[in-house]
Amino acid sequence: MSNATLATKLKPKAYKSGIKPVWCPGCGDFSVLSAITKALAHLALPNEEVAVISGIGCSSRIPAYVSAYGFHGIHGRALAAAQGLKAARPDLTVLVAGGDGDGFSIGGNHFIHACRRNMDLTYIVMDNEVYGMTKGQASPTTAPDWAKSKLTPHGPGVPSFNPAAIALASGATFIARGFSGDPNGIAKLLVEAIEHPGFSFLQILSPCPTFRPEQKEWKKVVHPFAQDDPTSNPVEAAQRIQADDGMSTGMLYRTMVPAWQPDNVATAEVEALEGEFKV
Ligand code: SF4
Ligand code: MG
Repeated sequence: MSNATLATKLKPKAYKSGIKPVWCPGCGDFSVLSAITKALAHLALPNEEVAVISGIGCSSRIPAYVSAYGFHGIHGRALAAAQGLKAARPDLTVLVAGGDGDGFSIGGNHFIHACRRNMDLTYIVMDNEVYGMTKGQASPTTAPDWAKSKLTPHGPGVPSFNPAAIALASGATFIARGFSGDPNGIAKLLVEAIEHPGFSFLQILSPCPTFRPEQKEWKKVVHPFAQDDPTSNPVEAAQRIQADDGMSTGMLYRTMVPAWQPDNVATAEVEALEGEFKV
């Protein structure tokens, strides 16, 4: 846990919209929202220079709660929309947010290719190992023997997706994990992720007390990564991931590779394209 509060140049409140979150009491996503506003306040980013893009799911409601540009898109397509936005508006700080179902199942292919494309985006996945919004189905990160859901009474039965391993294998240049019980720690990771010039992947263990009440115990089992500093060596990162129990938090991997940014997207071209599709 990170005890020291992140110093902020502006008030985090300046990044909160007037809309009250509709998450269940105790949902881990509240802390993530608070960490996002803290990180933006620390960086003193002008609201109009930030965009928060999401797909579908409980955590994907987050753009509505942040005072910035936002787009609540369709299921699994947050990264596709965000990369399009970044291509057209490289000046914006683009945060992409969503859950494990949205990001690793229907959006799994976008995840892989966003990692290898390495555009300058920050991808925040609030991972609760369940589809919360649609009432508790197993998601890609659900353990194979989890058998509490009426919809999967015998458990998913297949090994769970390992987001950090997939991100590393796909070419992500920044991989970190936080815990929503440690909002200061998440805020600090977010600042590093936003400042990283490339694709930053931040997995946040974010309990769903409604459909996974046992996740209230996560606070007792999360712990920092064995190594304090991230590695820039992918082989070493892979070894750390293999040795990890999935509950380690902190920075895992960071390497500097030039971010990919198409240089041929001009407003005039976009307008010409729009003209072609006019009905
Ligand atoms: Fe949060 Fe779970 Fe409620 Fe969704 S269902 S708002 S993830 S606690
Ligand atoms: Mg989920």
